[in-house]
Formats: sequence, structure tokens, C-alpha cells
Amino acid sequence: MRTRINRRETLKAGAVAAAALAGAPGWTFQNEADDGLLITADSMFDGHRFVENAAVLVRKGKVVRSGPARSVRDASARRLAMGSATITPGMIDLHVHATQGHVPFDRILAHGVTTIRDLGGDLRPTHEGPGRLRYVGAGPLVTVQDGYPTPVWGTGLSAVIKGPASARATVARLVDQGAAIIKMALEPGGEAGAPWSGEHASTPPPWPLPSIEEARAVVQEAHRRGRKVTAHVGEEQGVRIALAAGVDEWAHSPSALVPEELLKEAARKGVRMISTLDTESHTEGALRNARIFVSHGGRLLYGTDMAHPEIPHGFDSQELSLMMHVGLTLEQALAGATSLAGEQLGLAPLGTLRPGAPADLIVAAGDIRQGHGGVKNLEYPLLVMTGGRLVVTPDTTRSPQTPAH
Ligand SMILES: [Zn+2]
Ligand SMILES: [Zn+2]
Repeated sequence: MRTRINRRETLKAGAVAAAALAGAPGWTFQNEADDGLLITADSMFDGHRFVENAAVLVRKGKVVRSGPARSVRDASARRLAMGSATITPGMIDLHVHATQGHVPFDRILAHGVTTIRDLGGDLRPTHEGPGRLRYVGAGPLVTVQDGYPTPVWGTGLSAVIKGPASARATVARLVDQGAAIIKMALEPGGEAGAPWSGEHASTPPPWPLPSIEEARAVVQEAHRRGRKVTAHVGEEQGVRIALAAGVDEWAHSPSALVPEELLKEAARKGVRMISTLDTESHTEGALRNARIFVSHGGRLLYGTDMAHPEIPHGFDSQELSLMMHVGLTLEQALAGATSLAGEQLGLAPLGTLRPGAPADLIVAAGDIRQGHGGVKNLEYPLLVMTGGRLVVTPDTTRSPQTPAH
């Protein structure tokens, strides 16, 4: 039996949380999100652009509508007024090692990231669900005998191939076991300052690389099975093999300087580059390569290498700032962590607040375009929802009108 509550009443965030905490029988946040929850805030980034005085209506795990508050009305929905805050889609990190690094999924969720793509770790099937972190993974890296990542991370992260036939069979096995994407190692090692440069390696660089024939076989088999291939590239040799083999994506901006014509070719061919600029900020090439790639129209997407020691377990605003440093606008950088990332996963409209999108969203304090925290506030959201279920509820002790300091 549901407790009757006046549905036209506008609940302030604190009151909603208090009601939920009070445990009113039959009434929880979840009932409201299933029946219809209208969240309003002074600003919103919808995956593509900012909207002022905005609202998003969610029901049964999906976004029903979003836009200027005056255009998003629903008399039957409970209202949650967040005031001086910014609604955004949940952030998507396209490069993490959460299973390998034992990063708690709940911690990642609490800090604004609602989808992760694990590029090197346990091979486990894609999972999602209301209130859960959305997970897709690559499993181990396709590599050759004694190739990266074996000298740095041991054999547990390597799927070793020997010749094109073995490459095809390995890709087929990984896909059957649940790999949502194939990651191939094209890394001879030795780039100064790179987290994988080989300083603590069991065998010193240079490490062997797959041949172009092997790399082509990996890409062909992955594509035949509906999977993209992302390549771990750190320098010119690996980049040349990736371009020749038709790899879809580079899992990093290369850490060593790469000739401009190769970055231009990658941009022209529509290769996507995952940023990982924060963890690579000590390298000679990462920022410079990304800047040239972007200047030629290349698409740079958000990924952090989460589980590397300097990366927070959740959203990394420093990564976003570095993406802007190499030439993206704030909107473009945010799109790289939301709508364009959802597209890259093949899960669009995930990463947007368009009708029908999964209700994965966060609310950060204040206007994230301004001071008082700015994009840093995305690391400590006031509210986090996945699949329509609230996993971080607004703080009862704080007025929703007052941003966190
Ligand atoms: Zn990598
Ligand atoms: Zn990585």
C-alpha cells in the first residue's frame, strides 16, 4: 500500500531525502523514479549542449523528456528541485582497469561515472542494471609471445597469438567469452615517462610487436564478429601497424612524438583517440600528439586509465581540463565523456538525456561552467542515478540552493 503524497507538491532535495530516510512505508525514491520523477536545475548539459533552467523527466528506467523546464511538464510526476546545480548524463570512462586494480564499482559510481569500459583486466560479460555501474570489458590484451603487457604486468593480462590463424582463433574465443571490444598491444616500450615504459619490466624494451598480417587478422575477425579493435599505441611503430591494419581506435594518445602526417591520417580515417592525458602528463608526446590530432578534426574521447595511481576512482576533472588544453571546448570535452562515448560503445543514446536514453544521470553542485568548483564538482555529485535508480541521494543537511564549498 502506497503512502499518499500530494503529487503536485514540489519537494526540495533535502525533504525528498528525509522522506526516503524516514522510510515512509511503501514510499521510496525508487517508487517515484518508476512512476515518474521530474528533476529540475538551473543548468543542464544534455550530452551535446547546455540548457538553462532545465528539467529532465525519468520514468521506468528511461529518460522520457528533457529540455527547458517550461517544456518538460508532467503533473503526475514527483518533482525534485536541485536549484543551483547542473544535470548531466552519467559520465562514461572508455579506458579503465577497474577489475585488475580492484577499484570498487560503488566508489566509481558515487563519483559520477556510471559506465566504464575496462581495457585490460578480467574477462567478464557486459553487465548493467538499475542502480549498478554499467560495465563493458575487453579482457586480456591480444599480443605476441613476450610482447607488452607481459614484461610489465605478467602473463595474466595477455592473450598470446602466433600467426594470423591463431590471431583469428584468439579473437573468436575472447568474443565468445564476453569481450565487448578487442584490445591489441602495439607497444615496443621505452617511451620516456610513460606508465608502461618498461622501467620495472621483466625483460627490457624493445618488446616484440604483432606483424601487420597478424594485426590485420585481429581486426578482420573482430569486425566479422561485430567488435571494434582498440590498440595500445605509445609511439610511431605501433601507430604505423595500427593504421595499416585498420584499427578503429587508439586506447591512448601516444606518449612519444609521432609524425604529424600519421596523426593527420588517423584523423582523416576516422580513428578515435582515447585521451588518457592525465596519466601521461609526464610524457613528451601525449599532449602534443592529441593537439595535432584534434587540429586535423580527429575525435578525442574521454578515458583515464583509472587504477593508475594518480587517477581518482570516479570522474577525473583533470582529464577533462587536459582535453580542453589540447583544443576542445568544454562542450566537446563533455560530449567525449557522454554522448560521443555512448556512440563509441555502440550504446547510443546512452550518454545523452534524449527520450528513450537509459536514465543514467548525475547532478553536480553549481554551474559547472563557472567558479566555485566548476567541473571539479562532477567528481562529487549531489545525485547519481543509473537505470532510473538513485544510488546517491541529495544530502539532507544542505539546502539544494547552496552549492558545496
Ligand atoms: Zn593501454
Ligand atoms: Zn590502460
